[in-house]
Amino acid sequence: MNTKASLFDLTGRRALITGSSRGLGFAMARALAGAGASIVLNARDNVALGAAAADLAQTGADVSAVAFDVTSPDSVGGAIAHIEAELGPIDILINNAGIQIRGSLETYSHENFEAMLSTHVVSTFSVSRAVAQHMLERGRGKIINICSILTNHARPTAAPYGAAKAAIANLTRGMAADWAPRGLHINAIAPGYFKTDLNKTLMADASFDGWVKQRTPMGRWGEVEELGPAAIFLASDASSFVNGHILYVDGAFTAVV
Ligand code: NDP
Repeated sequence: MNTKASLFDLTGRRALITGSSRGLGFAMARALAGAGASIVLNARDNVALGAAAADLAQTGADVSAVAFDVTSPDSVGGAIAHIEAELGPIDILINNAGIQIRGSLETYSHENFEAMLSTHVVSTFSVSRAVAQHMLERGRGKIINICSILTNHARPTAAPYGAAKAAIANLTRGMAADWAPRGLHINAIAPGYFKTDLNKTLMADASFDGWVKQRTPMGRWGEVEELGPAAIFLASDASSFVNGHILYVDGAFTAVV
C-alpha cells in the first residue's frame, strides 16, 4: 500500500460540498481544493455563492458554483444531473448544508421542526441518492455527512437539531450497509463548537463562550481550518478501509462527561 503523501492527493477528483458559501462548508472546500480537488460550491444565496467562488478561485482552485436548495428534491435532481453532464463526475460529496433554530420544546413549531429534518436529514438522503446513482455505476465514490456533538448527546433548546443529527448518524451507517459492498465509502464528521454564522447568537453570549472553553478539554472553540484535514482524510485514498464511521473533531468534548 502507498503510504506516502499521495494517499491524500485529490488531484483529478471533483467534490460537491453543499452549504459551502461560508463557514465549515467553505473551509472544507478550501482544504479539498488545496489537496488538488476540483470544487463545486453550493448554497441558496447566489450572490454569496458567487463571492465565495471568486474568493476560492483566487487561490488557483478549479471552482464552480451551483445554487440550489437541498430541501427541494426537484432542484437537487436537476442540479446533480447538470453537474454530472456539464462539469463532470462527482467523486466526493459532502452533505454539509445546515441551519440552527433553537427553542424550547413546548413552543417549538411544527414548521421549524420540519425545516430541521428537511434541511439536515431529508437533504442528506436526496442529495446522496442523486449522486450515488452515478457513483454506483462507476463503482466508487466518497460521501461525507456532517453530524455534531449533539449526535449522541443532548443540550437544552437543541432537541430538534440533535434529533436531526442523530438521524444523519444512522443514515450514514445505513448508507454504508447498502453501498459499501458496491464500492462507496460513506462516513460522517461530527464537529465540536466552531465560530460560524450558525452559532452567532451563542457567540455573542459571553457566558456561553466561557462555557464552551471550560467544557471543551482543549479549552477553546475549533478553528474552521481544523475541519479541513478530516474532510481530506475521509475524501481520499487514505481512508480506504474506513466506512460507516463517525469522526469527532471536537477537542475531546464528547470524550468526557
Ligand atoms: P453556516 O450557517 O455558517 O453555513 C451554512 C451553509 O449552509 C451556508 O452556506 C448556507 O447558505 C447553506 N444552507 C443552509 N440551508 C441550505 C439549503 N436549504 N440549501 C442549500 N444550502 C443551504 O453554518 P456552519 O458552517 O456552522 O454549519 C455547516 C454544517 O456544520 C451544518 O450542517 C451544521 O449543522 C454543522 N455543524 C456546525 C457546527 C458549528 O459549531 N458551527 C458544529 C457541528 C455541526 P444559504 O443560506 O445561502 O443557503
